[in-house]
Amino acid sequence: MASEAVKVVVRCRPLNEREKELGSKMVVTMDSARGQCFIQKPGGLDDPPKQFTFDGAYSLGHTTEQVYNEIAYPLVEGVTEGYNGTIFAYGQTGSGKSFTMQGILDPLSQKGIIPRAFEHIFETVQCAENTKFLVRASYLEIYNEDIRDLLGADTKQKLELKEHPEKGVYVRGLSLHTVHSVAQCERIMETGWRNRSVGFTLMNKDSSRSHSIFTINMEIFAVDERGQDHLRAAKLNLVDLAGSERQSKTGASGERQKEATKINLSLSALGNVISALADGRCKHIPYRDSKLTRVLQDSLGGNTKTLMVACLSPAADNYDETLSTLRYAHRAK
Ligand code: ADP
Repeated sequence: MASEAVKVVVRCRPLNEREKELGSKMVVTMDSARGQCFIQKPGGLDDPPKQFTFDGAYSLGHTTEQVYNEIAYPLVEGVTEGYNGTIFAYGQTGSGKSFTMQGILDPLSQKGIIPRAFEHIFETVQCAENTKFLVRASYLEIYNEDIRDLLGADTKQKLELKEHPEKGVYVRGLSLHTVHSVAQCERIMETGWRNRSVGFTLMNKDSSRSHSIFTINMEIFAVDERGQDHLRAAKLNLVDLAGSERQSKTGASGERQKEATKINLSLSALGNVISALADGRCKHIPYRDSKLTRVLQDSLGGNTKTLMVACLSPAADNYDETLSTLRYAHRAK
């Protein structure tokens, strides 16, 4: 039986203005009540649509508020109770990863998963009785298999991954920043975001070609009825993955192509780890195959909850990429 610790949902964005002008057809439909997603091959109307089932299927009429309340809320609640959690959005550039993770404020129902998680955590911290929290944030980027601290004194410096017999895998020298409020968390995230390595592709000029991981580290000091102290620690990783598109479509060559190969390698390593975890029977989890999976090693598996939001474009001309996202997401189930 598949493990409950890994949840995978899909979310489809509306056609954008360019696609509408070009008269693009929609090839993706959802049956949200059943968590089903269907994709119809353009021009292949005689073929039945391909069908996939997930833990949630969100379509044009759905909001990030619904995604958060139904799927992300229990995961973040778990973090405030001492369980690690990891949330990431997967999909080709322009499919809605930032829209889902960062979001917009108008309407408020489309505020992203990240600001909602910040609010959720600080609400818990402020309302807790007999419990004190130390909340610290870190933000790193993996670009071309090099790790950099987006909040470090020198954001160009490459950091090394180390393994500690008790602490497990960690990034040596990664800075930790104590945060007391949602506003502080947001400011730190913005600072780090501006320090990212940004590349240009034909698909979206400021698309990110790096993976970044914003981590909220919580130390939870609780006093029980008998006056005894308990210390627990948990992490929430908010992962922003590079676009999953294949390089042929992005017109990449030379250095860009090398980058793209590394991006594809780490995304496939992540897919392999998650599918091995979701299977629940695998003894060997291939964490070592990429920096991304090694950094996340103690936050994928074990008593960790993982949520993947696979973002889809509905347009016929994105059929191949959308089908490959659906296959990737489905393997993780
Ligand atoms: P990505 O981060 O995957 O490159 P974006 O999140 O930037 O993609 O989305 C591309 C465009 O589509 C943006 O203009 C965004 O506002 C819009 N968009 C994405 N998802 C939705 C959605 N569910 N509803 C409305 N607009 C969306």
